[in-house]
Amino acid sequence: MFCKICEKNQLEKAFSLGKQPLANKYPRDDFEIDNEKLYEMDIFFCNNCLSCKIDVDISRDIFFQDYFYLSSVNKELVEHFEDLALELKDKKFVLDIGSNDGILLKPLKQYKVKFLGIDPSENVGKIANSNGLTTLISFFNQESSKEIIKIGGRPDCIVASSVFTHLEDPLTFIEDVYNLLDDNGTFIIEVEYLKNILEQVQFERFYFDRPFYYSLHSLQKLFDKKNMKIIDVKPIKAHGGSIRVYLKKNKVVSKISENVLSMLREEKNKLSMAYAKSCFNIFKSEIKILKDNLENFKLKNLNVIGYGAPARLATITNFGKIDKNLIKFIIDDSPLKVNRFTPGSHIPIKNYEAIKDNFYREIILFAYEYYSSIKSKFLNKDVNFYKPIPMKKL
Ligand SMILES: [Zn+2]
Repeated sequence: MFCKICEKNQLEKAFSLGKQPLANKYPRDDFEIDNEKLYEMDIFFCNNCLSCKIDVDISRDIFFQDYFYLSSVNKELVEHFEDLALELKDKKFVLDIGSNDGILLKPLKQYKVKFLGIDPSENVGKIANSNGLTTLISFFNQESSKEIIKIGGRPDCIVASSVFTHLEDPLTFIEDVYNLLDDNGTFIIEVEYLKNILEQVQFERFYFDRPFYYSLHSLQKLFDKKNMKIIDVKPIKAHGGSIRVYLKKNKVVSKISENVLSMLREEKNKLSMAYAKSCFNIFKSEIKILKDNLENFKLKNLNVIGYGAPARLATITNFGKIDKNLIKFIIDDSPLKVNRFTPGSHIPIKNYEAIKDNFYREIILFAYEYYSSIKSKFLNKDVNFYKPIPMKKL
């Protein structure tokens, strides 16, 4: 199959995560549950540029109409963007693409950096605007670029965090960034890193919202085509092991950081079709261990609930065929998800109030990267927390 990133014919099916729903659509009632669609989730690996792709034909617009992910609900993510804002405090004009509820804009405002957010989700963009964090509600493209120049001129820094893997047509996006960015400007992207997903067996991070899963190799091939160069890369903790990649226009690049070269070398040694398949087999056995444990809890009449209903919960519960018989309900801190159901597996989602006076001892942390802040809510309770994959008591 043809790879859209490197344009070579070396894309082959690596494994399948079975029938999956759209992970960010949380049905509200029986009607929405009945109308929920499932699609086969086949993952392809490109042996040439070392990337993965989910091949399914779903219109991109549908993902963003009502978006249920509010960045600022997560304390760790707030800190992450405060650090990034500090790094950007001397920039003249920062454009944040996919600015969500203004999680980066808020600290930029505190540093008195000129900023603008742009996000296609109406409900989330409205929240940002109502907090004085100016956000254009639109997709980023040639058309909205004109609007951006009218508002603030050419940005000397464009940020796209957790946006890039969602793009169906990354080349056009890069071209639009190139045309908008000041010639000496920096483009910063934060993407989930394929090598970490495989190495750490985080297959729950595959979902339809994201068609592509990148290595640094694949990013380099992509940006090469549009005359931009990766000048530096850093591992970041956000979203379970992403990378932050710094890019500039070719014509102003004079040196490339050693970090880039060493990451490329590591990838060359490790990433391959065989490696992707072997990691997937580990995931399969870990899902089985999770399910066996849940069935065991049920036999012992233990009340099991989940904490956090991030998109990846859908991949785990649907692949593992885990429903409300094994997990009574899920607690989530986002008001947008409460009183809905998890995609595909239809486990009820409730707010923290639901457990305040009741006792639940076994809690599966689907949002395990926020363990420290979740744990602090249960200080006086005798609770066991588990990471789902690999299943272990925390
Ligand atoms: Zn490729």
